[in-house]
Amino acid sequence: MKLLISNGHLIDPAEGQNSGKDLLIEDGKIIAWLGPNDGKPGDAEVFDASGLIVAPGFIDMHVHLREPGQEHKETIASGCAAAVAGGWTSVCPMPNTDPVNDNAAITRYMIEQAAKAALANVFPIGAITKSSDGSELAEMGEMKAAGAVAVSDDGRPVPNAGIMRRAMQYAHDFDLPIIDHCEDRSLSSGGVMHEGKVSLLLGLKGMPALAEEIDAVRDIMLAKETGSHIHIAHVSTKGAVEAVRRAKHEGINVTCEVTPHHFTLTDRAVEGYDTNTKMSPPLRSEEHLSAVIEGIKDGTIDAIATDHAPHHADEKALEYDRAPFGITGLETALGLACNELVHRGIIDLVRLVEMCSTNPARIFRMPERGTLAPGSVADVTIIDPNLKWTYRNADSRSKSRNSPFDSYEFTGAAVATIVGGQVVYRTEARA
Ligand SMILES: [Zn+2]
Repeated sequence: MKLLISNGHLIDPAEGQNSGKDLLIEDGKIIAWLGPNDGKPGDAEVFDASGLIVAPGFIDMHVHLREPGQEHKETIASGCAAAVAGGWTSVCPMPNTDPVNDNAAITRYMIEQAAKAALANVFPIGAITKSSDGSELAEMGEMKAAGAVAVSDDGRPVPNAGIMRRAMQYAHDFDLPIIDHCEDRSLSSGGVMHEGKVSLLLGLKGMPALAEEIDAVRDIMLAKETGSHIHIAHVSTKGAVEAVRRAKHEGINVTCEVTPHHFTLTDRAVEGYDTNTKMSPPLRSEEHLSAVIEGIKDGTIDAIATDHAPHHADEKALEYDRAPFGITGLETALGLACNELVHRGIIDLVRLVEMCSTNPARIFRMPERGTLAPGSVADVTIIDPNLKWTYRNADSRSKSRNSPFDSYEFTGAAVATIVGGQVVYRTEARA
């Protein structure tokens, strides 16, 4: 089966490509780029991408798919449906399922459920410690052999520096990056939003920026000593961005990601006590948001990841103090990145593709993805950066509705998502 994506504008930062070319796909692989003078195969199905950006498939490095154990919030199938509607061809679920993904059997189960759904690729992230309780290291080698691409205790920090040091040495032996949820709980425990003027005014307990920064600095020091690769999840503070910038200058193997909500909203969004503004790390003040934007601009921040964290409406309907942390994000990420970053001139489309595809593939050592080079897996995200649309929680493909971006108007969307050469999503399906 051949598919020709014709008349599109190809952006592939890994190959230095940023111009018009046709893309020929056969049997799930990219076969060739064709220029105007190259012969077109007569037997290929044609996808007309006139006026559209053709990019290597987007890889979301940080999602929570809730299966196994909390299928009332999300399943791997419903999460993958939301992913492809947002332009993501691959998603990497965190291990804080029930039970925790701390062994090869659960890693394999997740991959099997994804294969049944046949929408997005699922590359699980295994736990650093057994049950993610921060004490005993999990069997990283077995999880890697089963398909895990990284390890993390996300949702929780690894509180003990000695255990984190051993985890880094162990992960390094298996060439696995550690995805680091940086939060010193002796500072943040009990907090429900960013600690600052707004938390004081609202009478809510704050989580200081320092809680993230102290842990980030500790783990950067450990990464320097052990030589292992750490990837700081959902960086949200000025001090953490600065610490990563310094570490990169020093040649320490550290990368990091930002979520769309952290480059869009500040803690002022909490003023209405909407529990869909409650997440960890919390929405920060203007000063931190500016530092995050600066980190996106100068390349300190490598990737955009959603931290898609679905919760049932009944759970989020509690008062602010008691509601769970997290918001959905798979379907709004690209719209937010276009609105807040591309159309404001903070980054261009090449850098957007780099942050959503090239860099995630590099960080997770996926040489066949994150590029459109001939021979690569045919995962493709087709984008209309000028398409105007409105996001509605009621239309979400996720099982959960906990997004603060209901009724947001966006300029920019994925109009088609192709996974392994199959068109698994097209905008027409939404209409
Ligand atoms: Zn986290």
